[in-house]
Amino acid sequence: MQIKNIKYDVLKQKMGDRIQKNKNLAPFFTLKMHTVAEYYFEPTNIQDWKEIMSIVFEYDIPYLIIGGGSNIAVFQERISGIVLRNRFISKSIEDETHDYVDFKISSGYPMSMLVKETVDLGFSGFEYHYGLPGTLGGAIYMNSKWTRPLSYVSDSLMIATIMDLEGVVRQESRDYFEFAYDYSKLQNTGEIFLEGIFRLMKHDVAELQKRSEEAMCYRKNTQPFGVATGGCFFQNISKKEQEKHSLPTGSAGYLIDASGLKGKTIGGFQVSEKHANFIINTGNGKSEELHELINVVKTEVKDQFDIDLKEEVRVV
Ligand SMILES: Cc1cc2nc3c(=O)[nH]c(=O)nc-3n(C[C@H](O)[C@H](O)[C@H](O)COP(=O)(O)OP(=O)(O)OC[C@H]3O[C@@H](n4cnc5c(N)ncnc54)[C@H](O)[C@@H]3O)c2cc1C
Repeated sequence: MQIKNIKYDVLKQKMGDRIQKNKNLAPFFTLKMHTVAEYYFEPTNIQDWKEIMSIVFEYDIPYLIIGGGSNIAVFQERISGIVLRNRFISKSIEDETHDYVDFKISSGYPMSMLVKETVDLGFSGFEYHYGLPGTLGGAIYMNSKWTRPLSYVSDSLMIATIMDLEGVVRQESRDYFEFAYDYSKLQNTGEIFLEGIFRLMKHDVAELQKRSEEAMCYRKNTQPFGVATGGCFFQNISKKEQEKHSLPTGSAGYLIDASGLKGKTIGGFQVSEKHANFIINTGNGKSEELHELINVVKTEVKDQFDIDLKEEVRVV
C-alpha cells in the first residue's frame, strides 16, 4: 500500500528536499538486506523530530525509526510510509562535580563515538560497550548490554526526554523505562527516546581504556567481526527455563551449536562458525533465505531441546 500523494505533498511542502523517495536502505542495516523506503528522512535535532512526527501523526503515515540498523532484520522489499533514520547527534555537559559529570546526549549519537570519547576523557559508564554498534537511542530502546561484567547502556541514565504517540514531548526518570533483559517500556508504548542526561563517574583513564579494550578483545575472540550481521539473533532463555531443562547455560548460541547448526547455510545466510547465535549475510542474502534459515534453527532447537527460541532482533 502506498501512502496517498497528498501526504507526500505535505511531507515535501513542510520538510522540503530533505524528504527522499524510494531510498535504498541496504547500507543502513548491518545485515545489509536489500529494501527500499517509500519515503525517507533524517531528523538531526529535536525540532526536526517534532516537525516530522506532527505530520506523521496528523496524516496517519506509517513510520519506522532506525538508529544504526544493527538490530533489525527486514523482510519487506519495500517499506511503505516513511523511514526515519536518526541523525540527531549532540553531546553537552549539564553539570559537573569533583566526582561526576552529567552529559546531555542525543539519541542518534553513535555508540562507538560515545564510548571512545567518554573513556578518553576519564568518564565511566559506557566503557564496556566498546564495539557495540548502533546509536544511543537504539541501545536504550533495546536495553543493550555487555555481560562480562554485566553492564547496561541504560545504567547511567538519569532523565530522558521522550515523545509520545501524540507528539507530546516530556521528561521521565530512569525508572519509567522498566528496563529488563532486552526490554525497555518503549517497546510497548512506541514512544521515541529523543535525548537523555547520563551521569558518568570520573575515573582513571588508563583503567577505563583497559576495560574497554578487554571487552573489545573478548568480542573479537568470540564473535564474527567485520561481517554483515545483526548481532545475536535469538534471545537467551530464562534461568527458570534453563533449570527446567537441566542445561549448563541459558545461551541461545549454546542451544544452536548443540543442535549441530554451526555453519548451516541457506543461500546467502549462514549460522556463524564462530558464534552460533550470529547469523551472517555472506553476500547477496535474500529475505526468503533468512526466513528459511531462522525456521531451520527454531525447528532443530525445538526438536533437540523442546525450547522455543525467540528473536532478539526486531523483525520488520
Ligand atoms: C556485531 C554486533 C554486535 C552486537 N553486540 C551487542 C551487544 O554486545 N549487546 C547488545 O545488547 N546488543 C548487541 N548488538 C545488537 C545491537 O547492536 C544493539 O541492540 C544496538 O543497541 C541497537 O542500536 P541501533 O541504533 O542499531 O538500533 P536499530 O537496530 O536501528 O533499532 C532497534 C530498535 O530500536 C528502535 N529505535 C531505535 N532508535 C530509537 C529511538 N531513538 N527511540 C525509539 N525507538 C528507537 C527501532 O525502531 C528498532 O525497533 C550487536 C549487533 C551487532 C551487529
